[in-house]
Amino acid sequence: MKKVIIRKTEEIENWKRNINSEINFIPTMGNLHNGHIKLISTAKNDNSNFNLVSIFVNPLQFDNKSDLENYPKTIDNDIKISFANGADAIFIPSTEDIYPPNNKNIKLLKASTELSSALCGLNRIGHFDGVCTVVYRLLNLIKPKNLYLGEKDWQQLLILKNLVLTHKLNVAIKSIPTQRDFDGIPLSSRNVHLSKNERKLIRFFSNELLVAKTKFQQEKKISLKEIIKKLSAEKISIEYLEHLHPHTLQQSRFEDNISILAGAIRCGETRLIDHVFLMKRRPIIAIDGPAGSGKSTVTKLIAKKLKLLYLDTGAMYRALSWLLKKENIDYKKEKILQNILKDISIVFKSNENSHQDVFINNYCVTEEIRSQEISSIVSKISSIKEVRKFLVEEQRKIGASGGLVAEGRDIGTTVFPDAELKIFLTASIDERAKRRKSDKKSKDSQEIDLHTLKELIKKRDFEDSNREISPLIKANDAIEIITDGFSINEVVDKIIDLYNDKIPKETQIQ
Ligand code: C5P
Repeated sequence: MKKVIIRKTEEIENWKRNINSEINFIPTMGNLHNGHIKLISTAKNDNSNFNLVSIFVNPLQFDNKSDLENYPKTIDNDIKISFANGADAIFIPSTEDIYPPNNKNIKLLKASTELSSALCGLNRIGHFDGVCTVVYRLLNLIKPKNLYLGEKDWQQLLILKNLVLTHKLNVAIKSIPTQRDFDGIPLSSRNVHLSKNERKLIRFFSNELLVAKTKFQQEKKISLKEIIKKLSAEKISIEYLEHLHPHTLQQSRFEDNISILAGAIRCGETRLIDHVFLMKRRPIIAIDGPAGSGKSTVTKLIAKKLKLLYLDTGAMYRALSWLLKKENIDYKKEKILQNILKDISIVFKSNENSHQDVFINNYCVTEEIRSQEISSIVSKISSIKEVRKFLVEEQRKIGASGGLVAEGRDIGTTVFPDAELKIFLTASIDERAKRRKSDKKSKDSQEIDLHTLKELIKKRDFEDSNREISPLIKANDAIEIITDGFSINEVVDKIIDLYNDKIPKETQIQ
């Protein structure tokens, strides 16, 4: 399909009719740099949709006339860059086209008050209302499937996510991490205005944020006063420097695992913003649900795609059950069990097929723990107080520095109650029995008839859901996904979208 430049809003409809494809939309104000290129190329590599880049300097979002007049314009170069990096069409409307002077129906939108009254909103009155108004107009015109935005303007990203939510717009927002120049300062179209000395000051500012981030990793706290003192000593004019919750933009509280340290400074006529995310530990995903809900398959794929550690807690209960059975231990006797638990070591190791093997006291039990014999005793054993206490502690040790996706029955409620994302995965009993029957891992299940398999699963559900200590229940803040009728990939993609919505991309590459 020929690459096109569209200059009139009416032509958009025509173009859409011809392409017969979903659209990835990348809105820009031109003067494209590597940050924009990353947005365009990410969209191109994400899927086979058509990529539409818009170039429009939106007067409504400028609170300062000279900033609007001086905004750098490099349209010919922008066109070349967009096409060279994956744009299929470029939309370059005029101001009159987006805001026809005689059209009284144009809705001026208000950005979320909570989100726009913090950070940049304090000094840039009306800026975010202008951003919302133009994006809303463009989204209604283009109706894209995906909207690509940079995390550099984190507050703007949150406000636009809120806009999409409150106006029930049918578009998914995809974000990319802040792209930085060779000297560490965030790429911005306005950087062209900087003198050598101004650039030096910004470099100092960005570097101080980075220093604070490293310090936070060790000390788990920051001192805004200390940073302000250092910046002031360099005669950097600070507009704001705040430590906030990354989604509400309210003051960060001690219990926040991820927070944002964001600042704006002025250098001459130019105003620049930068931020870092502070993390006490890397993120955790908790996936709970009954037997046969697809947890293992889904969790493994998520771990692979998001490069997280995979923790199968069920395998730990199974391995322990296997050992108690093999050694004929009377686990109902508290003292005997306590003695045994003192010497238990359960480890996971990747094997040559890139799967995980489970070892208990150096026995490799990966296959044996999947037998019906173990399935029929594991729920009893996992309801014992000492067993749970021991294994929950082991699981917390594995997850101490985060960066993992754990599956089980009590991950979101007990093991990692502060997990960033909690999923409760379930499916009808018929669906779960069918899945178990075709589960290659559990050879026994393939030989049992469907009706019996259903009864066995129901029994295990009952035992797991009705035990006294950490029974299988959905955590209050977990998102329930019923997987009947969905393919594995659809469920995986849904969970990854939820994760990306909660966890800044920037923290995922640390
Ligand atoms: O997930 P899987 O079927 O391998 O789990 C085996 C059993 O281990 C469950 O039926 C349950 O009794 C127990 N379990 C548990 N808590 C977890 C994980 C598994 O009690 N977090």
